[in-house]
Amino acid sequence: MTTGTEVQHRIEELRHQIEYHNYRYYVLSDPQVTDAEYDELFLELRRLEEAHPELVTPDSPTQRVGAGVVTDFAKVVHEVPMLSLSNVFSATELEEWLNRANKFLGSHADYEYTVEPKIDGLSVSLLYENGTLVRGATRGDGIQGDDITPNLKTIKTVPLRLHKVEGEETPRLLEVRGEVYMARTTFEKLNQELAQKGEKLFANPRNSAAGSVRQKDPTATQKRPLNIFIYTLAQKQGGPEIKTQWEALHYFEKLGFRVAPDIVLCKTLEEVEVQVKKWLEKRSGLDFEIDGAVVKINDFATEEKLGYVGRDPRWATAYKFPPLEAVTRLNDIDWHSIRRTGSINPLAVLEPVDIGGITIKSATLFNLDMIEKLGLKIGDLVLVKRAGDVIPNVVKVMEERRTGAEKPFQYPQTCLSCGAPTTRKEDGGGRLYCTNNSYNCPGQMKDWITFFAATMGIEGLGERNAHRFYDEGLLKDYADLYKLTKNELTNLERVGKRLADNLLNQIAASKQNPLRLLLVALGIPQVGVKAAEMLASQFRSLDNLMVAEVETIEDIKGIGKVAAESIVRFFQNEANRAVIEKLRAVGVNMLEPEREGKKTLAGKTFVLTGNLVKYTRNQAEELLKARGATVGSAVSKNTDFLVAGDKAGSKLTKAQQLGITIVSEDELQTLLEAEA
Ligand SMILES: [Zn+2]
Repeated sequence: MTTGTEVQHRIEELRHQIEYHNYRYYVLSDPQVTDAEYDELFLELRRLEEAHPELVTPDSPTQRVGAGVVTDFAKVVHEVPMLSLSNVFSATELEEWLNRANKFLGSHADYEYTVEPKIDGLSVSLLYENGTLVRGATRGDGIQGDDITPNLKTIKTVPLRLHKVEGEETPRLLEVRGEVYMARTTFEKLNQELAQKGEKLFANPRNSAAGSVRQKDPTATQKRPLNIFIYTLAQKQGGPEIKTQWEALHYFEKLGFRVAPDIVLCKTLEEVEVQVKKWLEKRSGLDFEIDGAVVKINDFATEEKLGYVGRDPRWATAYKFPPLEAVTRLNDIDWHSIRRTGSINPLAVLEPVDIGGITIKSATLFNLDMIEKLGLKIGDLVLVKRAGDVIPNVVKVMEERRTGAEKPFQYPQTCLSCGAPTTRKEDGGGRLYCTNNSYNCPGQMKDWITFFAATMGIEGLGERNAHRFYDEGLLKDYADLYKLTKNELTNLERVGKRLADNLLNQIAASKQNPLRLLLVALGIPQVGVKAAEMLASQFRSLDNLMVAEVETIEDIKGIGKVAAESIVRFFQNEANRAVIEKLRAVGVNMLEPEREGKKTLAGKTFVLTGNLVKYTRNQAEELLKARGATVGSAVSKNTDFLVAGDKAGSKLTKAQQLGITIVSEDELQTLLEAEA
C-alpha cells in the first residue's frame, strides 16, 4: 500500500523526469528515452493525478494543455517596457551607430558585442516566481500586452519550472524575453494541410505563429507546434549576478531555456561584420526565419549608462538584411499542374529575377480567389516575395506602373491534360477542378502514381520518372508499378541497369508495407497518416475495411462522419476496386502486422547504412522500434549495432573504428525475428 507522501514523491519524481526528457527532446534534440517510454511516464503521472486531484499543480507537465477557452485575454502591464530596436542597413550605418554611442558616453571604450540572429516571430515575456512559470505575455504596444500564459505553456520548449543549477540560488523573480516562431517545416506542413482542407493559407511563418499563439483556445495553439528562442534578461531578483549579455545567454541555457544557435562574442566591429555576413549567408538554409542580426554591447553596466533614445536602446541595434522580394513581370499563368484530386494549381510564369541570390522563374498563385484579389493581368509588373526555400508568392500588382498593354487572362474551360470541362469549386479560396475521374485524366493519374510511390517508400521513382513511365505507356495506374520489368525499364533512354535494379528492389520491398501505409498511399480523400493508423489498427485488414459501413467506421475515435462516408464511397467505386484487386494479385500486403511484439531489443541503439534489399529504410526502422530499439542517424560510441547494407560508406568505417557490432541485413532479420 502506498501512503499519501509516497504518491506525492512519485508525482514529483515523474514531473521532473518528464520535464527533463522534454528538455532533452525539444531543446537539445537529443532524446534519452523512446517515445513509448516517455508515454509510459506521462500516463503514470496522469493516472496518479486523476486519483489525487488535490496534488495537481499548474506547473505539472499534464497542465501544458489544461486550461479552457478564454473569451478575451487579460491585459498585462510590462514592469520593464518591451522596447523596439533601431535599424542599420550597412557597415557604414553600423559604424555611425557606434559613433553615436561613443559620443554619448564622451569616450571611446573598447566594447565587446554579441551578434544574435534576429528571429522573425512574435516577442513575448515569460515571468517566473521562485522558479515556476507564472505568466506569459505578448509584447502588445510595449507597455501593455495580453496574458497568453495557457498558450505559451503548450510550447514544449518553454520550461514550466526552471532547472536547478548546482550551487546557485534560483531567482525569486525572473523575467526573460524571447521570440515565439513557427519552424519553416511546420509552416509548410500546416499550409499543405490547410490547402487540402480548402482553408485560407498563411502568408508566412510569422503570421501563422502570431495567429497560433493568440488562439483563444489553447488546444488550437497546441495543434500548431511553435517554438521559442530566449534572448533578453528583463528582470531578476536573487540568483547569481549576471553582468553581461553573454553571461545572460549562458545562464538561460543552464535554466533550461532554448537559446538561438551560433551566437558569437565579438571584440571589434569588423568581427561583428563577419558574423552578420555569416547569418546572411545561412539565412535561407535555417529552419527559422530571420530578417537580420541583433548587435548588442555586451556589458550591462555600459548598457545602463547608454540608456535609451526615445524607445530605442542606444546599446543595441538591428542590422537588417535586404528584403527577400523583387518586382518582375508576369509573362503568363500556367494551368498544367494538376493534382490527383483533380485540382488545377495555377503557377505564375515570371520574367527570371534574382531574389536573395536565387533566380526565380515561377511563383505559386494558390487559388482563384487569390488571383482575383490580386487583380492579375498578363504583362503586369508584380511584387514577388520569397520566404526561405519555399516557392515564392506573388504579393501585389504594381498597378501604377501599368502601360495599358496588359491583357486579361481566362481560366481554361477544359483540362489541359484530358480535355474534360473544368469547374470552379468554392472550397475555401476557390479552385479549378478537372471534372474527369482520376483514371481517365492522365494529369491526375500521374500525380496519383507519384503520390503512391512516395508514400510506399519507392523513393527511386519520383515525379519525373512517374510522369515519364506513364507517358511511355508502362503505367496506366499505380498498381502497374508492380508489373514493371527490368527489360521495359532498361529499354528506355537514360535508364541503366543499376537504376532499374534499385527501383525494382524498392518496388518489391514495398509489397510488405503495413496496411496503414497502403491506406495512405491509396489516396482516399480525408484519410491522412493519423486516420490511416487508426483504421489499420482497428480493422487489421483491407478486406475488413472495404466491407465496413459508415456507422462502424464513424465509431472509431478520431474519424468523423465526413471521413467515414468518403471511405465507403472510395471502396464503392468500381475503378478503385479494380486497382485494389490488381494490387492483391501481385501480392501487396493488405494486413496490419501485430505491433505489440516483445521488446526484445529494448535499450539497444541501431544505426542503418547502405542499401537494404529486404526492407525499405522505413520498414526496418518501424520493425526495430516495434521491438523497443532506438534508431539513431549517426554512429557514436552509444551505438550498439550498425546495420550495413550494400555500399555502406563512412558510417561503416566509423563503426569499425569504434568497435561497434556490425550486422548484415540477414543478421538483422534474425534479430527481429528472435523470440526472446
Ligand atoms: Zn483532366
